[in-house]
Amino acid sequence: MVDLLTLTLEQQVPVQMQGESAGFTWQWLGEGLLQCTPKTSYVKTMVLSAGIHGNETAPIELLSQIIHDLFTERLVLAVRVLFVLGNPEAIRHGARYLENDMNRMFCGAYQNLIQDQETERAAHLEQVTTQFFEQSQPQAQRYHYDLHTAIRASLLPVFALFPYQTHAYDEFLIQSLKAADLDALVYHNAAGKTFTHFTAEKFQAASSTLELGKAKPFGANDLAEFASTDLMLRAVLADQALPARLKGPIRQFKVVDSVLKQSDDFQLNLSADAPNFSTFQKGELIATQQAGNYVAHDQQVWILFPNPNVKTGLRAGLILKEIK
Ligand SMILES: [Zn+2]
Repeated sequence: MVDLLTLTLEQQVPVQMQGESAGFTWQWLGEGLLQCTPKTSYVKTMVLSAGIHGNETAPIELLSQIIHDLFTERLVLAVRVLFVLGNPEAIRHGARYLENDMNRMFCGAYQNLIQDQETERAAHLEQVTTQFFEQSQPQAQRYHYDLHTAIRASLLPVFALFPYQTHAYDEFLIQSLKAADLDALVYHNAAGKTFTHFTAEKFQAASSTLELGKAKPFGANDLAEFASTDLMLRAVLADQALPARLKGPIRQFKVVDSVLKQSDDFQLNLSADAPNFSTFQKGELIATQQAGNYVAHDQQVWILFPNPNVKTGLRAGLILKEIK
């Protein structure tokens, strides 16, 4: 039994680094990293990550419970999986990150920052992920679910983002996100520096970033809120039928623009606690700054991740349009 979360919180090395369970072999690959390979052949190989932002504890607890159930044989493993707790030091501090947001560091972007333990961790995660996919059976389809919770409330409470990619979006991935009762899917329009951009671009993995509600400290989560995602992930890991969707049709959006903060006087025309998916009608002011105001030029647009407090030069929000 490997209790990945406790080992990570206590900064411990397991007594045994690798071993065998009833249906799979496992290797502890370092802090917050556990690889499990079924003894039978498998058709999917997947990265399941959480804690890239250290204060997003519910998905970390969810992965921890899944690992426990694999070792106690309550859950049968039918796919190869790499469990990742992304930013261990931030997890121990209950912080989103220490110096820089790790989910802006992938695809080599860590090289442009002053080297510290977070840039080293991002580089290490790229290495470990590369090895994991390269050592998987070549015919196995590659997946990556990166689990997060959001900083702010959301009018569509649970949603997933797809990285921009030139290969087709994987139908099974989309079906699984619908089965997880997500409210919305959002398609990026440009390459980013997130963990899922990295796995999609480098390995043609079917990758998605899931935003599963609000960030709370360890112990304060009601995991029942995450039950649909939990059920979906367990079905995928066991290669069983996906659970039936309980909600109405999922809504789909594409990113059409980002609002850039170009000067210190930048202001968003939104209250500080405005939820994700707040809307603007054509002609409405979205942001003001010396460099020029940003006005909605489509009939209706939605804003995602509004944050006027980012550093100058960075993205202060994504503008979305609904795909009908
Ligand atoms: Zn996050």
